[in-house]
Amino acid sequence: MQLTTNIRPLNDANRLGLDYRHEAAMLPWTSPIIDAHIHIWGLQAARDYFRIADWFGITEAWSQTPLQEVPAIKAAFGDRVHFVAVPDYSKRDDPATFTTKWFDSIEQFADLGAKMIKFWSAPRGRDIHPSMTLDSPERQHAMKIAHGAGMMFMVHIADPDTWFATHYKDSNKYGTKDSQYLALERLLDQYGDVKWLAAHMCGMPENLDRLQQMLDRHPNLYVDTSATKWMVRELSKHGDRLTDFIRHNTGRVLWGTDIVASDGHYKMAGDDQYASRFWAMRTLFETDYDGLSPIVDPDLSMIDPSLPRESVAMLKGIKLDPTTLQSLYYDTTKAVLQ
Ligand SMILES: [Zn+2]
Repeated sequence: MQLTTNIRPLNDANRLGLDYRHEAAMLPWTSPIIDAHIHIWGLQAARDYFRIADWFGITEAWSQTPLQEVPAIKAAFGDRVHFVAVPDYSKRDDPATFTTKWFDSIEQFADLGAKMIKFWSAPRGRDIHPSMTLDSPERQHAMKIAHGAGMMFMVHIADPDTWFATHYKDSNKYGTKDSQYLALERLLDQYGDVKWLAAHMCGMPENLDRLQQMLDRHPNLYVDTSATKWMVRELSKHGDRLTDFIRHNTGRVLWGTDIVASDGHYKMAGDDQYASRFWAMRTLFETDYDGLSPIVDPDLSMIDPSLPRESVAMLKGIKLDPTTLQSLYYDTTKAVLQ
């Protein structure tokens, strides 16, 4: 696969100087794609997201959006966007955001058609509110409400290995990476009649064998490929093992980007901010590209301070066969989430 480099200004989302609109048209896959994991924060952000999504054939998206923004985005984009219930993190200083107000908003999300609820359980959540562990009493109460409303569950569990080696070194405070999964496995069994979507390859793109064991133990568990920088860095290391994994788990892996669409994020690199994520996540699965990722990955210089701030990971495409791609890009998300 040949890229046309150095024809656009460089920024943190485009270290190769790509014309992403041109490169999008060069990608091989031409059928519709669903992005199963994004965060649209408002109407203008939705307009920017879907304008770039059109370049890449993204026809639908599952968005984690603050409740008050849902009606306007729904009115503008209709069935193109599906909503996942989340607390309003912009009001994180008000503890009720994660307790009483959150419980009320779950019903309101359901009334607006949301079929999934997200339980964000990154270890750093403990710095925001004590209820942010997956099995806190508040979370278990929210699960009961959501289960009653017929919702599926989405979960963010753990974080990159690189973070456990740095931010989360204090395991007394944050727990070890392994310990994050104890509550998840318990709750997967407790809510065995619920489909669970574990974001970011269930937080373990570094270890596909371990992830396979989780999937084998829990038939109600599904994973998405979102978090572009993390996935590009770690999944590119697996080569054929990744191909085998995706094929073996056809019907349980959903494609997603984890694009955060907000006016602030758009300002960072304009169209490149979103286009880079679509381009990298498609290039990884449908091409044989083997070279630099165009996106600055801060974890590289965090782990090795001798590296420049602008360091990028390697991106190694696995060029999946069309049947597997159709499942990953579209059919699995339709079958599991709708
Ligand atoms: Zn996300």
